[in-house]
Amino acid sequence: MVRYVYDFQDGGRDLAGLLGGKGANLAEMTRLGLPVPPGFIVSTEACRAFLATGEEPKGMSAEVSRHLSALETGVGRLLGQGDDPLLVSVRSGARFSMPGMMETVLDIGLNDDSVLGLAKVSGSERFAWDSYRRLVHMYGSTVMGVDPALFDEAMTLLKDAREAPDDLHLDASDLAWLVETYKSLIRNETGRDFPQSPAQQLQQAILAVFRSWNAERAVLYRRRERIPDDLGTAVTVQRMVFGNLGPDSGSGVAFTRDPATGRPGLYGDYLPNAQGEDVVSGVRDAVPLAELERLDPRSYRQLRDHAQTLERHYRDLCDIEFTIERGTLWMLQTRVGKRTAEAAFAIATELVQEGLIGSDEGLARVSGDGLARLMFPRFDTTATGETLARGVPASPGAAVGAAVFDSAEAVRRAAADEKVVLVREETTPDDLPGMVAAQAVLTGRGGKTSHAAVVARGMGKVCVCGAQDITVNAQARRFTARDGIVVEEGTVISVDGSTGDVFLGAVPLVASATMRYLESGEQADSVVCAVARALDHADSVRRLEVRANADTPEDAARARRFGAQGVGLCRTEHMFLGERRKLVEAMILARTDADRDRALAALLPLQRRDFTGILEAMDGFPVTIRLLDPPLHEFLPDRTDLAVRIAAAEATGQQPEAHHVELLAAVNRMHEENPMLGLRGVRLGLVVPGLVAMQVRAIAEGVVERTRASGSPHAEIMVPLVGAVEELRLAREEVVRVLTEVGEETGTPVHCPVGTMIELPRAALTAGRIAEEAEFFSFGTNDLTQTTWGFSRDDVEAAFFSAYLDKGVFAASPFETLDREGVGRLVRIAVEEGRAARPDLETGVCGEHGGDPESIHFFHEVGLDYVSCSPFRVPVARLEAGRAAL
Ligand code: ADP
Ligand code: MG
Ligand code: MG
Repeated sequence: MVRYVYDFQDGGRDLAGLLGGKGANLAEMTRLGLPVPPGFIVSTEACRAFLATGEEPKGMSAEVSRHLSALETGVGRLLGQGDDPLLVSVRSGARFSMPGMMETVLDIGLNDDSVLGLAKVSGSERFAWDSYRRLVHMYGSTVMGVDPALFDEAMTLLKDAREAPDDLHLDASDLAWLVETYKSLIRNETGRDFPQSPAQQLQQAILAVFRSWNAERAVLYRRRERIPDDLGTAVTVQRMVFGNLGPDSGSGVAFTRDPATGRPGLYGDYLPNAQGEDVVSGVRDAVPLAELERLDPRSYRQLRDHAQTLERHYRDLCDIEFTIERGTLWMLQTRVGKRTAEAAFAIATELVQEGLIGSDEGLARVSGDGLARLMFPRFDTTATGETLARGVPASPGAAVGAAVFDSAEAVRRAAADEKVVLVREETTPDDLPGMVAAQAVLTGRGGKTSHAAVVARGMGKVCVCGAQDITVNAQARRFTARDGIVVEEGTVISVDGSTGDVFLGAVPLVASATMRYLESGEQADSVVCAVARALDHADSVRRLEVRANADTPEDAARARRFGAQGVGLCRTEHMFLGERRKLVEAMILARTDADRDRALAALLPLQRRDFTGILEAMDGFPVTIRLLDPPLHEFLPDRTDLAVRIAAAEATGQQPEAHHVELLAAVNRMHEENPMLGLRGVRLGLVVPGLVAMQVRAIAEGVVERTRASGSPHAEIMVPLVGAVEELRLAREEVVRVLTEVGEETGTPVHCPVGTMIELPRAALTAGRIAEEAEFFSFGTNDLTQTTWGFSRDDVEAAFFSAYLDKGVFAASPFETLDREGVGRLVRIAVEEGRAARPDLETGVCGEHGGDPESIHFFHEVGLDYVSCSPFRVPVARLEAGRAAL
């Protein structure tokens, strides 16, 4: 028989898949002896069964009843018991944290009868009715589907009528009135009554939490965070403890370190006389934990001790939800906390130094994405404009965008490619789409633990929260800021998530401290030192080499400063552009061999100079030069453009320029319906006489020049778009002929390995044959993705990729993250069969994927020798190649 329900005593953190992160960690804290209110967990397995069939799985309710009875016996009271009720919370919690995306119902077990009992035993009528109104509100919206805004409206009306600034100023009879109002709201909206039976409340709440797995915002959050859709949520049922029992009670959120900077020391917010939901929702302003130390030093010290226990136990930053009931501290949740990239590097390094974790573990705790974020530019603080406000720096980075005041507007403008900043008094889980769409989030209320802050940090989005200088009027679509400045919707503002500053207008950007370190080695602060350590360790453990895609000496030099060990792809295309276009035109239009040779001869010294420069910048390291790849008409003027010019000349009775007529004829001759699949790559070299020879000569002469200058040039010649070994054989013969020729002419022998790009499925599938002629393979995963899927990136990304991502055809664009199943399989085949034919075959990747963390792990797995990526991704690739090797 399957088991669906587990007691806190039975679980532990390793069971997160079954019990959800929240349940598993509550069990773990129970085992550690921390004060956790008792309870039990309905497993994700039950949820999956329920979502699949729409029915409660058989046996589940009996198990729930059994565990409830045990809980009741332990506590000595029955759920909803009239004179002294046991109340429970029913809490969602999936394997991966989805903050606030699913539902939780508190105070289950209250009804018209037990509310009186609760009032009597607690000695506080206000508390009893406050709990009841919370239950009816949460249950009404979560379980019965009433729009929560209706409850909020009733609350606002009541507060206005009582001139109460917040809920604390409502008394017991106000709250009792609110309960009745909520109940009639439910009746009007649903035609049903709020259920008085505690057992029914419990059962229905559990099912509602199951269903909240598929709530719209939860689905969106999962897609965004790449959490699988089929995991389901567990449900934790737990005895309530009360933070709303008066001024000596309260609820709070804490981090064992500052999640924004990583600085050690307890960090968080506390809200006296409140239940937990109030802290993150921002209904009232929370106070810093330092204030708790003053209010209730004993509980504060306990919290600090427990925080330390947890951090030592999890060996990582933890976040904590706690409640104090009349001076007694209760732990309600913990998990390894989300943090900024800064904090991730700082904390990992510090934990290594403290000896809590090893260097490998420290490296595992940081990520290439985080490093990329640290490399983003910062605001130029010497050029800031008018300061609008200063808030809490909750998630770092510099963002510029037009102020918008609701999620829908943010989504609308972002869809039209406008950069926006979402400005809210506070955010709720319903703001998620707008947060995804925005460059930054700015709120008037809430601290580092508010919803906006937690979600933004998780997404790596810039966030400033609790900016008290601003007052948001969402309805009027504007906010007022410092000195009474009014900012209307659409006004561009700049948000600095590292300092908390908000400026009017677009502030210019400068290099970040991490970027300065990468450029110059300057270790300006502790975060940069942490980055340096992580990169050093990655370099010491990684097996993959990292090269860069660089077409110019400047790029090659920068890549080298960033740690590149060579150029994995030097594209020669740009060497045919600009002023040289005329020469290329002449070559294409040449009628005689002599004409063509003249044009090629003019290009030769220009190309040689380029190659010499790159070889010099990468002296001692390999430089893989790809022969010309794109179709030649890309170097000719636009067809329509020419036709229009000629027509214009004719219309005015003039003779069109002969050159134009000639060009148009050439363009027409070379026109292709599918240039991507047309005359390009090796095909060009095989049909345009002299093209390969000229390029190889330029490379070879560059090598000779560098050798004579006592350099150590290592050029490798790469033939693009090969599909059959015969193509490569022919191209290679030409290459070798020219290399030998140049060697003989100059008296300096030139050895350049000759290899090919693997970017056609046929090449991958016949890799064993191709390796007979290739000394190296470089996977051109951009083209290989296009030719494997049969779609061209330029045509599909805008056309249907977002639909495909929505429909789940792929979890990420195959142009960003390598499609392991299809394209990856071709890579694997080619590596295996290529190596079988030629054991010393060198293999690498030079597509965009070479800088993508997930793809890098795959390339490590299949045993490539190197990845090559754009210079700016080189540090990211070094780090991820190190992590892949752990
Ligand atoms: P979320 O996943 O949105 O954080 P939780 O299940 O953690 O939802 O519940 C939100 C808050 O409700 C908690 O932070 C806690 O303060 C409060 N809460 C949950 N269960 C209890 C309980 N048994 N007693 C008191 N407060 C609770
Ligand atoms: Mg929680
Ligand atoms: Mg290609």
